[in-house]
Amino acid sequence: MLTLKIEGLQKNYRKFQALKNINLQMETGLFGLLGPNGAGKSTLMKILSTSLPFQDGKVTIYDFDLVKEGDKVRQLLGYLPQHFNVPTQFTGKEFLHYVASMKGITNQQERHLQVEKVLEEVNLLPQANKKIKGYSGGMKRRLGIAQALLGNPKLIILDEPTAGLDPSERIRFRNLIEKLSKDRSIILSTHIISDIESSCENAAVIHHGEVLFQGATDALAEKAINVVWEVSVPYSEYDQIEKEYVIISSRKEKENVVFRVLSIDAPFDEATPVQPTIEDGYMAVINGVIS
Ligand code: ADP
Ligand code: MG
Repeated sequence: MLTLKIEGLQKNYRKFQALKNINLQMETGLFGLLGPNGAGKSTLMKILSTSLPFQDGKVTIYDFDLVKEGDKVRQLLGYLPQHFNVPTQFTGKEFLHYVASMKGITNQQERHLQVEKVLEEVNLLPQANKKIKGYSGGMKRRLGIAQALLGNPKLIILDEPTAGLDPSERIRFRNLIEKLSKDRSIILSTHIISDIESSCENAAVIHHGEVLFQGATDALAEKAINVVWEVSVPYSEYDQIEKEYVIISSRKEKENVVFRVLSIDAPFDEATPVQPTIEDGYMAVINGVIS
């Protein structure tokens, strides 16, 4: 079933075109919205959450028109904005009760049940009665997810939910997202491809307000077939390599550095072609280096 359909969406901030004729479709499950900073991810997500008007186009969420049936759409949605500030003097539980009331869950017993359920889902029950002030970055982010889950939304919009997390929090977070996406649809934006690599089957890449790719993440990886190479050179040649190729990553190997680079032609004779990953495909699409 189609969760989301976007047709010909245009968004301008005064004269600046932030989204140019966006066409996207999303089915149930986890969908990755990928793009570098400034691509238009947050703009798109604010529009989907019904909090930002747009100039042109049509957005349909579960058969409801986002503009004409905004109230119905809002009931189906949970949203975690990129810059989500929580009032730190509350406890986690108090904050969730407050959000639940705002979402119209006025029956006290129902609200209690829902708050306990979402706390459990994000694994925050042990800290529920502690002040948010003392929460770690990862805990605050999980609280952000918990508030998005209130009201049992069918579609959850998470805008860069992993930004600023340390490596162990990041892994924990990925597991949570994977678990949550089993029985809901989630659209998650990020510029860190490893966030979605293990759990996400479908994705779109946006850049400068345009969709450059959409489809299966496997197909995204395939965009970089025959254009990913490893070259081993002394570190002193870094500048040269950087000038000529798009560098994806590098690792040290004895006296040399092995660069993973994008290039349509073999960089030089000793270069070895390598199997592309999703990140390679993403980098190839963003930099226009596709075979
Ligand atoms: P992303 O979330 O992918 O980093 P954004 O949607 O935040 O991208 O921004 C896309 C572009 O729109 C950027 O160039 C940004 O500077 C611009 N932009 C975002 N919000 C505004 C605004 N309120 N007014 C003017 N320009 C904006
Ligand atoms: Mg953003």
